[in-house]
Amino acid sequence: MAFKALELSAPVLRGIQAAGYSEPTPIQLRAIPVVLSGRDLVGSAQTGTGKTAAFALPILSKLGGHNPKPRVLVLEPTRELAAQVETAFRDFARFTDNRAVALFGGVGYGAQRQELKRGVDIVVATPGRLLDYLKSGELSLRDIQILVLDEVDRMLDMGFLPVVKDIIARCPRERQTLFFSATVPPEIAAIASFALRDPVRVEVGVNRSVNQSVTHALYPVAWAQKFDLLIALLEKLEFDSVLIFSRTKHGADKIAHKLKGARHSVAVLHANRSQNQRIEALAGFKSGKYEIMVATDIAARGIDVAGVSHVINYDVPENPEDYVHRIGRTGRAQAVGDALTLVTPENADDIRSIQRFIGQKIPELRLEGFTYAPFVARPQPAGGQPQRGGRGQSGRQGGGGGRQGGGGRFGGRR
Ligand code: AMP
Repeated sequence: MAFKALELSAPVLRGIQAAGYSEPTPIQLRAIPVVLSGRDLVGSAQTGTGKTAAFALPILSKLGGHNPKPRVLVLEPTRELAAQVETAFRDFARFTDNRAVALFGGVGYGAQRQELKRGVDIVVATPGRLLDYLKSGELSLRDIQILVLDEVDRMLDMGFLPVVKDIIARCPRERQTLFFSATVPPEIAAIASFALRDPVRVEVGVNRSVNQSVTHALYPVAWAQKFDLLIALLEKLEFDSVLIFSRTKHGADKIAHKLKGARHSVAVLHANRSQNQRIEALAGFKSGKYEIMVATDIAARGIDVAGVSHVINYDVPENPEDYVHRIGRTGRAQAVGDALTLVTPENADDIRSIQRFIGQKIPELRLEGFTYAPFVARPQPAGGQPQRGGRGQSGRQGGGGGRQGGGGRFGGRR
């Protein structure tokens, strides 16, 4: 089915064509008619599914011409997401006269204030900075017709829910609300029932599933050998660009420092870096100036970098949901990509909960030619399978070179 059949406005259809999209993704197919109809919506979809366009395209189609009073408010949990979603709105709106602004912290108020003064149709904001403008009276939500609450589960993690509730209460009661959250724990269900009226539910795939185009594998290793294995993997992988995840900001800095010592070009993205440093890191990674980016979960949430060929979890994520989000950074929009997770014996419980969460076992692999400390190189049980089944064993794995099955240390029964 083509975008044309979705009753989007002519300038928006031109914007889609200019963006190079040929056909809608499943969430776009299902959400666009709901948004156009004016109904409230609760959507769950993995990142990388085309969620942003699923709300941005119908919203722009409904807006009509420019009006200096903001009619659309999109709340995002992080600065990077706010910037990215605003860019998507601008791109799709290039053949309209609609204007969008991104309001987020960590940068000065001057440029944002100027944009607000000029008049915008769409505000994409993080909750804290938005509240500053509301309190100072520089922005009013009186004319909001469509409210988008994006990545609400992450807003919960970041402690934003009270502010979000305050912001919702400042919007007119008569409005359309679009609500996106990968999971709906009780606190989020409470916000949903407060914010939404008789919503249509759109679920694409299962939230817990890993993007089908991604192959993923565990690399068991002794703790003391983690960095050596990372270097050896990077040597073997035919990568274009690699995103490496660390659990902590300090850990991210340390990994980046050591990688630079090994002559890799590296960017770092975490919350302790200034906004300018974060913008530079992301732009440099996107342009190919940096071949590797080391990031923490919150900083990397939802960032859209085309062509990430590999994701390496240097640390196993604490939260099983973050595994899915991290893996979602590669294999975006149908490209194939590999996701590798370094695991030490201490991570056994975390790996079991990730496998339970995603409903599948992640194959364990060993890097041929790497001298492992004894615990991993233990002999296979008699009659044991040299390789474990699963997508990770597909031909695409060839990129890593000479991988073979591991001992099933983290397999466990689910
Ligand atoms: P999102 O889930 O909104 O972060 O989008 C993930 C990526 O898919 C972005 O790079 C989008 O530009 C891209 N994308 C979204 N919709 C389509 C489409 N219909 N065709 C091709 N690419 C798309």
